[in-house]
Amino acid sequence: MKRFLTIVLALLLCMSFTFSFACDLAGNGNDSSNDSNDQTQGDNNTPDGGEDDGDGSEHSHQYSDWVATDNEHYHICECGDKTDVAQHSFESGVCTICGSREVTTGFEYELINDGKEYRLTGIGSVNSQVLVIPRESQGKPITQIGEYAFYYNENITEVYIGENINLVGEYAFLFCTSLQKVVIPQSVKTLCDFAFSRCESLTDVQIADGVENFGKHVFSNTGIFKQTSLWENGILYVGNYVLDTKKNLKDSITVKEGARVITPYAFKSCETMTGIILPDSLIAVCDYAFYDCIRLVEVDFGEGVKSIGDNSFRSCKEIVQINFPNSLEKIGENAFVGCKNLQSITIGSSLKTISAGAFLGLELLTKIDLGTSVESIGDGAFYRCISLSQVVFSDNLKEIGEEAFLGCYNLKQANFKEGLLKISQSAFKSSGITRIDLPKTLTEIGFDAFEYCSGVSSVRFGGTIAQWEAFGYSDWASSELVAIECSDGQFILS
Ligand SMILES: [Zn+2]
Ligand SMILES: [Zn+2]
Repeated sequence: MKRFLTIVLALLLCMSFTFSFACDLAGNGNDSSNDSNDQTQGDNNTPDGGEDDGDGSEHSHQYSDWVATDNEHYHICECGDKTDVAQHSFESGVCTICGSREVTTGFEYELINDGKEYRLTGIGSVNSQVLVIPRESQGKPITQIGEYAFYYNENITEVYIGENINLVGEYAFLFCTSLQKVVIPQSVKTLCDFAFSRCESLTDVQIADGVENFGKHVFSNTGIFKQTSLWENGILYVGNYVLDTKKNLKDSITVKEGARVITPYAFKSCETMTGIILPDSLIAVCDYAFYDCIRLVEVDFGEGVKSIGDNSFRSCKEIVQINFPNSLEKIGENAFVGCKNLQSITIGSSLKTISAGAFLGLELLTKIDLGTSVESIGDGAFYRCISLSQVVFSDNLKEIGEEAFLGCYNLKQANFKEGLLKISQSAFKSSGITRIDLPKTLTEIGFDAFEYCSGVSSVRFGGTIAQWEAFGYSDWASSELVAIECSDGQFILS
């Protein structure tokens, strides 16, 4: 192994010598004297002027702060050029030069993602109280901490999560009762349910802004909730995440600028809160975030929210109007169920997904314009919205879920746009629909899609009679309807 490394090093030295020479030829006077050990530079520079940044101007490197791998540190320019590449110099487990921590070895791993990455699955032979999870193992990134990986480990006191980890699995640190400190880097996007739950000594959580998917009860029954310094105006912030609130919040509440995520249940049952103003920095409102805020009337989402979680505004029965921001891409399941006064909804310009039951049973909702971007309407999304009389379908709509408009008996007309592929089972069952315009792109009409629509007097289909026959759909309740108008003539109903 050692001999192999020597050979590789020698080769690298040769290569970088060649490339340094090339750089000098290109007239760059900014070369660091310390970058002779740098392969990346070689990859990015060509003899005919690789330092050129594309618009013809000379580029002088702008180096970053220290970047660390498990073994080395260096500065890097956005062109890829590295300088001051060197091994860490650890003292008491911390590099005296770059401040990075010496990684812990001996964990158990399994290969994931077609063998390209590792998941850490257990403590293995490690008996240290401080865990510094590596970035890599055998040249492959360690990207996940598996479920139950450190479950019930009562020994560990500090955890530094590796900078390639993007997911911390369910129950990963459940009942690590001695754990006091956790550092979660920017790479972590997902914290699964109960990941740090019951770590009762945990009071110091340093969490970067990368988390987009914040599970349920991630920090439940930990010491964080008792840290008075983390509470501001009745809201518990851990980093830029809203973790919990006092249930006696009154009137209109403003979440501070910089906040990224309202975590699950954070405002649940704030029964005296009447308004919520969310900052533009916010990207996600998680599941059950405002569940049962029974006096909540005003909701200002800010301009950055991308997703609203399942049951997030469930039973907020005083909300009358909702304006979604143009940033919003997804509305979760049952998000507005039980908002019985909700009458007006404005969909932004980026919404793609309306999940199952999102607006189920909103009896006062009279119209909805689905804008231009909505691609799918989930099962039961507008189930029994009995006042709904006008729906403007989006240009991008591909699929309408089961029972999506079931029982919308004031809905008379449905003008679908080209591009629609599927109308699912019972989608418009027992609705008031009388005229139906179906585009030629349609490939499937589910069983009972228009069952009990006794008022249907006209059905037009943009495709051919043969295409229509292929649907095999015949369940028309109306005696008035005698034929389907297809592009090449009438399909006569028997
Ligand atoms: Zn550069
Ligand atoms: Zn270092």
